[in-house]
Amino acid sequence: MISGKALIAGVMGDPVAHSLSPRLHGYWIERYGIDGAYIPLHVKQTHLADAVKGAFSMGFRGFNVTLPHKEAMMLLMDECDGDARRTGAVNTVTIDAVSGRISGTNTDVYGFAQNLRQTPGYGSLRKNSAMVIGAGGAARACVAALQDEGFASITLINRNRARAEQIAEALGGAIRIEPWERRHDALAGVALLVNATSLGMAGQPELDLSLDALPRDAWVSDIVYRPLMTPLLQQAASRGYVAVAGLDMLIYQAQKGFHLWYGALPEVDDALRRHLQHL
Ligand code: NDP
Repeated sequence: MISGKALIAGVMGDPVAHSLSPRLHGYWIERYGIDGAYIPLHVKQTHLADAVKGAFSMGFRGFNVTLPHKEAMMLLMDECDGDARRTGAVNTVTIDAVSGRISGTNTDVYGFAQNLRQTPGYGSLRKNSAMVIGAGGAARACVAALQDEGFASITLINRNRARAEQIAEALGGAIRIEPWERRHDALAGVALLVNATSLGMAGQPELDLSLDALPRDAWVSDIVYRPLMTPLLQQAASRGYVAVAGLDMLIYQAQKGFHLWYGALPEVDDALRRHLQHL
């Protein structure tokens, strides 16, 4: 039950029906007995600026941003923090109720880093070399997080090479671009492989990748979370690699937004993970 003073947030996207965020935030709202609501907001690109103004006018605390608006949202912010600026994307917006100032951040960076940190054994993972496949909005956040985590070199491979080059230019540091055709052989010496494409997602083709060259002690991470065990992770697990699923990235990026809008830092536990997996 909510009152007339309820704290309101939501998620803007097009489409938005697939988003797990209402289910995730709704779980925490109920668990902490918060007088609040989190609602899906189906917003077309042409209405994005109006929707942001409207969110302020209607007293929203803020909102999440999902496909395809993460980059366009940057231009509508009064200010962006460092993670939003370096990734060129905003996934979490807060609105100051008094001044109306609208601030953007990118909590996918934190979410991906936490996804790794929560996996047992991460402390002993070699951090000499990581490889990220994909160069969309999510890949930018993954590469930024890997830089923060201290990976000495990052290889970036994308079907559209120009997009990978844009990431290398924006983020700087030791990022090497390899052509799409080299993705199998370039795995030699890699300690952490990350799939940041949408391949392997329900309704999409699998990522065509042979793991033959990947060292035996490497980890394989897939940020796709529907299904949780993607074909890539199934292949990795069957070969004895540590397989890291993407659900915790989703949960931890949301944790920061929830804290900003509703004031409570929600706990992440297995009951929540089960709640999100059983749809
Ligand atoms: P984008 O649309 O921005 O990027 C899609 C990426 O997938 C691009 O690199 C694209 O390559 C690649 N790709 C798509 N189809 C193909 C194909 N047929 N062959 C080769 N490459 C292909 O999406 P996002 O970066 O926002 O999201 C990517 C995935 O990550 C999605 O599945 C999303 O659900 C997931 N995600 C998970 C999160 C989590 O919290 N776990 C958070 C955010 C995203 P190209 O540039 O060549 O088109």
